[in-house]
Amino acid sequence: MRLSRFFLPVTKDVPSDAAIVSHQLMLRTGMIRQNGAGIYSWLPLGFKVLKKIEQIVREEMDRAGAIELLMPTLQQADLWRESGRYEAYGAEMLRITDRHDRDMLYGPTNEEMITDIFRQYVKSYKALPLNLYHQQWKFRDEVRPRFGVMRGREFLMKDAYSFDVSEEAARISYQKMFAAYLNTFDRLGVTAIPMQADPGPIGGDLSHEFLILADSGESAVFCDKAVLDVPPPGADFDFEDEAALKAEMEKRTRFYAATDEKHDEAAYAAVPEDSRIEARGIEVGHIFYFGTKYSEPMKADVQTPEGKLATIHGGSYGIGVSRLVGAIIEASHDENGIVWPASVAPFDAGIISMKPDAADVAAVADEAYAKLTAASKDPLYDETSDRAGAKFNRMDLIGLPWQITVGPRGVKEGKVELKHRASGEKSDVTLDEAIARITGA
Ligand code: ATP
Ligand code: MG
Repeated sequence: MRLSRFFLPVTKDVPSDAAIVSHQLMLRTGMIRQNGAGIYSWLPLGFKVLKKIEQIVREEMDRAGAIELLMPTLQQADLWRESGRYEAYGAEMLRITDRHDRDMLYGPTNEEMITDIFRQYVKSYKALPLNLYHQQWKFRDEVRPRFGVMRGREFLMKDAYSFDVSEEAARISYQKMFAAYLNTFDRLGVTAIPMQADPGPIGGDLSHEFLILADSGESAVFCDKAVLDVPPPGADFDFEDEAALKAEMEKRTRFYAATDEKHDEAAYAAVPEDSRIEARGIEVGHIFYFGTKYSEPMKADVQTPEGKLATIHGGSYGIGVSRLVGAIIEASHDENGIVWPASVAPFDAGIISMKPDAADVAAVADEAYAKLTAASKDPLYDETSDRAGAKFNRMDLIGLPWQITVGPRGVKEGKVELKHRASGEKSDVTLDEAIARITGA
């Protein structure tokens, strides 16, 4: 993309209510535009990041055997009356009436709707296990929308729902999501620690929140730092291997990790003092086994091998896709701006042409653009006539993993300057060397 043709409304002015760095940086880089309290437009730069996160989440859900579909944002109140949640949900639910006076709502979550789909079609244990997911906008009329996209009212969530014939089988579905989440966050370039969470009415140990450590986090967290050293299951992980699934969970849950809501001083006292982390965290995912909470009132049951009817056991698994954009920035920035993990960067590299009107400089910069594009990379090419300082600052601010600077002196020596954004390391290299470094060839 040529910067002169792109829509990148970088600004210095950020409103004083942008209290945390990710919110400030998202506004300064023109990633988002606030349209109302907790409601945002995703401008091109922000939208590219959101789509990259969504795609990684999708690939990892698919790898774990979940199947994607898409449910609408608007729902009929009647479904929620069946589960008993229409009244219970309270003021966070945005309620709407259509022209025929039917009660509707903008979905804050989809347990009822997916259970309705399930009961329409699935009648036999043979179709199980089944895990269906979508990535769809949700609306929750939060009392205090704040921190930009981190606590919005309209936000993008990945929500998956598992269906199993028994609690035992549901545990395996749960473990698959646990492992898939570790791989997902790893690919997103962040460390999210699974922490024991409130299991709700059913009790048990099958509820975990995944938190990224960051000073701006809304939860206080207490954990044994040894949990950070456990590697993710990885791309070769076999999601059908039940022993391996169980082991992945045990490898982590044997270390203490809890948010303030579940914190247990006595258990924490057993963690070696030099291994304790007391910090703040951002919740980016939550996985939850809820048993027959929805299937019972909504009569979602299947035939067992013995020919009896069994109420299915369910779980739900959320990831805050739009919240992650802010959370990743919280975890990865410096005094000059964002430092994107390569996997979610809006562009793979920036090309700065120092003198776009000099034919020799323009030729090398054009060549850099053509070669990166030919190597299936997505570069942002700054061929504007802005001042050099402004160009460097802007490129650092938007935080692409690599920068190639083409200037008149270097061109005469057959060199460009390659900068690695995260380390700040600069080197004068030939264009082909620079391309090889960026493409990892
Ligand atoms: P929180 O405790 O932060 O309010 P929650 O427990 O209500 O979240 P869940 O119902 O578990 O959230 O939703 C799944 C995920 O959706 C959360 O882990 C979080 O990442 C994301 N999420 C929830 N509420 C919001 C919001 N208002 N804005 C952005 N993301 C959100
Ligand atoms: Mg939660």
